[in-house]
Amino acid sequence: MVSEWPAGEAEGGGDDPLSEFMRLALREAEQALRENEVPIGAVILRGERVLAAAHNQREQLRDPTAHAEMIAITQAAAAIGDWRLEDCALYVTLEPCPMCAGAILQARIPVVVYGARDPKAGAVDSLFSLLNDPRLNHRCQVYGGVLAEECGRMLTEFFRAQRRLGKK
Ligand SMILES: [Zn+2]
Repeated sequence: MVSEWPAGEAEGGGDDPLSEFMRLALREAEQALRENEVPIGAVILRGERVLAAAHNQREQLRDPTAHAEMIAITQAAAAIGDWRLEDCALYVTLEPCPMCAGAILQARIPVVVYGARDPKAGAVDSLFSLLNDPRLNHRCQVYGGVLAEECGRMLTEFFRAQRRLGKK
């Protein structure tokens, strides 16, 4: 069914492979929500095999680097026994920040698919274009805005609830 992957257009919605795998990342974001973490999820696939599935765990781990992508990259590298994730694709519900974009470059991940844009910290399209900077030695194929509405809605609702509780 996904023999032509990732040829499908990243329009969001529908059952194209990009949306299908983004749903796995969304499931991770839901798990983060249950743990009272900012709901962001990420998965890394090689072909159709899921090498890693992780969500933001900054509060639980008290670790500013515990973003979903960072944890997923570490998991995937452990799964294949190589720091080079050269034939992998990373799916994440929110546009990666500069730290995660840096890790994506370090891991040489060739395909990155994200959901909602992050106008405040996004380092793929919004504030920087780290994954496609000709000065750097690695570039990624990027598909943005996949299931963007669903991905963004989880975040909006989370922060709204936080404000109601008088937190940040
Ligand atoms: Zn990040």
